[in-house]
Amino acid sequence: MDPVKFFLPDEALPSRWYNLAADLPKPLPPPLHPGTGRPLGADDLAPLFAAALIEQEMSTERWIPIPEEVRSLLLQWRCTPLYRARRLEAALGTPAKIFYKYEGVSPTGSHKPNTSVPQAFYNAREGTRRISTETGAGQWGSSLALACQAFGLECLVYMVRVSFDQKPYRRALMEAFGATCIPSPSDTTASGRAILAENPDSTGSLGIAISEAVEVAATHDDTRYCLGSVLNHVLLHQTVIGLEAIEQLKLAGAWPDVIVGCTGGGSNFAGIAFPFLGEKLRGGKDVRLVAVEPSACPTLTRGRLAYDFGDTAKLTPLVRMHTLGSSFIPPGFHSGGLRYHGMAPLVSHIVDLGLAEATSFNQLDSFAAGVRFARAEGIIPAPEACHAVAGAIREAERCTAEGRAETILFNLCGHGHFDMQAYIDYHAGKLRDYAYPEEEIALALAGLPTVPGSAQGI
Ligand SMILES: *Cc1c(COP(=O)(O)O)cnc(C)c1O
Repeated sequence: MDPVKFFLPDEALPSRWYNLAADLPKPLPPPLHPGTGRPLGADDLAPLFAAALIEQEMSTERWIPIPEEVRSLLLQWRCTPLYRARRLEAALGTPAKIFYKYEGVSPTGSHKPNTSVPQAFYNAREGTRRISTETGAGQWGSSLALACQAFGLECLVYMVRVSFDQKPYRRALMEAFGATCIPSPSDTTASGRAILAENPDSTGSLGIAISEAVEVAATHDDTRYCLGSVLNHVLLHQTVIGLEAIEQLKLAGAWPDVIVGCTGGGSNFAGIAFPFLGEKLRGGKDVRLVAVEPSACPTLTRGRLAYDFGDTAKLTPLVRMHTLGSSFIPPGFHSGGLRYHGMAPLVSHIVDLGLAEATSFNQLDSFAAGVRFARAEGIIPAPEACHAVAGAIREAERCTAEGRAETILFNLCGHGHFDMQAYIDYHAGKLRDYAYPEEEIALALAGLPTVPGSAQGI
């Protein structure tokens, strides 16, 4: 009988991250200073980020060494398992082979600690005392709290109000790791107070919470800011997922025809896909990449590729990405980790270059896929991960229709143990679909910033 799980020994933990920037056929357009419209320098970012992270952000080196202190922490749960989804294949009656990489075995149940650990490490090494950040559903906040605890840093987390109210367990996890968690918008920052003055009942958004966290870092010398997705260095840190998967698929004697991941800010998708894309760009085998997003926050499928702010208060640099506009506030659907108005510039860029495809699923269809997966494989996917499952099942059904025995690899980026209320609501028939009306997207996009020397207006 063929094996269903592929484990790697500790020694196989990657010793370097893979940087896609080294192999891109066309370089990534740089982030711009919002005032001058000129490309950003390392000095512009220094008040916010650790120097080592800024260097990684701008690097075009193909391989970047992982410090031993980081590797020794990652070893607690890495290498993560790769599974062959035999029972799901049987349930679907598909000729396709389905593999999934399971990132839910980390201490916080998702891929996020892959980057929180190095971000905390470099900050601690450079003398940062406190880190500020935002969190949507709480996966990032709890992962950063874990890493800050390991390296002796204070951690201040602005948590989107709707999730703060819906997900008390995530907050408890952050506090257990020693972090302070404040619901956003809050009255502790000028950006938060401005939002509350306009709308005292604001349920918040990632864009607003980012403004608050960035403001705290910009106004305190001992505080730096960390982001859990979107930025190049975050995607870089996540490539351990794909690098391990390459070795595990070799053990299985397989290579993927298609790789599927869900996309909020793009980091877990990049983490599994970029090392394979790199092999392809260096002359290796072809592979299709499919990014799956929620219909209620359709950044890649209905947004525009343009320079935009990363936050609502317009404090961040301008980055070129697929965006729904920085004023976009997605509805309160359950995949909190996917509710961001923008997309990682690197993911946007490869979609623009035709190296990756994007598709969307609504909330009900993605939960239906998640339940189908749970019944076959025995793992409850995080609501975000349900989108990747839905994408993989759609690919498997296409293989069935076409009679093709393709190999499908997807990233099961987290478990749903903290999200069981969403499953309760789903089974009680309480979840609704919400497709964003075209007018609202047009309205949010009309507010895109003007960029000197670039025609991106409507
Ligand atoms: C944060 C998170 C996401 C979304 O972020 P990406 O950067 O797109 O990966 C998706 N799934 C889970 C489980 C998360 O914690």
